[in-house]
Amino acid sequence: EKMGLNEIRSKFLEFFESKNHYVESSFSLVPQNDKSLLLINAGMAPMKNYFMGLDTPPSKRMATCQKCIRTGDIDNVGLTDRHGTFFEMLGNFSFGDYFKNESIEWGWEFITKWLKLPIDKLWVTVYEEDDEAYDIWKDKIGIPEERIVRLGKDDNFWEIGTGPCGPCSEIFFDRGEKYGCGLDGCKPGCECDRYIEFWNHVFTQFNRDEKGEYTPLANKNIDTGMGLERIACIMQDVDTIFEIDTLNHILTKVCKISDKEYGKLRKNDISIRIITDHIRAVSFLIGDGVLPNNEGRGYVLRRLLRRAARHGRLLGIKGKFLSDLVDEVILVSGEAYPTLIERKDYIKKIIFVEEERFEQTIDQGLSILKEYVDQLLIENKKELSGERAFKLYDTFGFPLDLTKEILEEQNFSVDVDSFNREMENQKNRARNARGNDDELSWEEDLFSQVDIEDEIEFIGYNNLNSECKI
Ligand code: ATP
Ligand code: MG
Ligand code: MG
Ligand code: MG
Repeated sequence: EKMGLNEIRSKFLEFFESKNHYVESSFSLVPQNDKSLLLINAGMAPMKNYFMGLDTPPSKRMATCQKCIRTGDIDNVGLTDRHGTFFEMLGNFSFGDYFKNESIEWGWEFITKWLKLPIDKLWVTVYEEDDEAYDIWKDKIGIPEERIVRLGKDDNFWEIGTGPCGPCSEIFFDRGEKYGCGLDGCKPGCECDRYIEFWNHVFTQFNRDEKGEYTPLANKNIDTGMGLERIACIMQDVDTIFEIDTLNHILTKVCKISDKEYGKLRKNDISIRIITDHIRAVSFLIGDGVLPNNEGRGYVLRRLLRRAARHGRLLGIKGKFLSDLVDEVILVSGEAYPTLIERKDYIKKIIFVEEERFEQTIDQGLSILKEYVDQLLIENKKELSGERAFKLYDTFGFPLDLTKEILEEQNFSVDVDSFNREMENQKNRARNARGNDDELSWEEDLFSQVDIEDEIEFIGYNNLNSECKI
């Protein structure tokens, strides 16, 4: 009776096909010919060259459902109702074709006529200076002014350094007081989960130059992004994205393996949601050719996988369990992403091997970390030395972020600078041990260099991105 996630995806693409959009399937999670980004984090990301006018799109109107990973949201997963590291983004795009009027009108038509969302629960935000968008919402769509919120640059203006940029307008659904922070003045833009943001419409209409000046673009673009899990969460009237029809399958399996009931203890629920999310991210990443590694994309994969393994331990799961969850991921996503089915055995194998590698050291590593913490307590210190964090990394396979996270849960920190020095020392030792021959080591081969560069770029992009949306 309730519309499933897979049906919402089809409906969206069908709707925009009926508006003469060319429907393209999802691009890989791994950016192609784009060094500025580690992983695809929005529907527009793989189409950047179309927006910049560097490549010609197959059509001036396109629609996609894009696999996305946002590692910047990792700490939100399981704590908020609405964030995953992996999610699917529905999007319609105009490359110098239609603009604000159509974007808003079609968006509204889709959610109210095709999805039949109750109109009185819908709110919108616009950029404070964007009277054009404000008037379209007010006059053409007829939204009462008290549900149109003007927000500043941080929330409703999209830009990355120089280049095409512009205001955006976002659509929110009011899920009611029980999801709210209860504070006075809670409205769309508030970080709580009452007004859930689900669709961002970006109007790229300016070019920003080096001097920070904005000039109107000759070809104005539309770039929208709607989180598929979020709209499913709203449509299915469940508390979090982890309880929608598809994700619930995975979640239930996690509960079964761990012999835990969902909804009983918040601490367990968080771990269950984290595993549910991370196993999807991990499966899709491997499906797109990423392998566990200590750098770049491979590090993201390793970190997610080991983080999921650790939450398995917190739930009391003994032994390996992650590769068994892949069947569940494929059950709900295989139809839309057939490469998952094709590569099923491969994906399971990589996860199995990586989990096995970590399994041999995780328990020992966790108990050593506990000893370190006890010692910090005795010595009344707040920071773990880089040397010790490096030992956990080097001997027990603990990614630095995992160590940091476990410590932060108990209000401790890590001396990251000295950790990095240890890492550098080790690399130098390895280099010296090899002598001065010309052969490249694995650390120095071309690919790992690219990954290191990517990672540096990635941090910068991601910081901007968290301010600028999409
Ligand atoms: P939020 O403010 O909730 O973190 P956002 O403003 O960062 O979202 P956008 O960059 O505007 O998100 O991305 C477009 C859409 O993608 C969002 O409106 C939302 O529906 C979806 N989305 C963004 N991040 C996530 C995530 N981590 N998990 C699931 N869906 C997401
Ligand atoms: Mg965000
Ligand atoms: Mg947004
Ligand atoms: Mg937002």
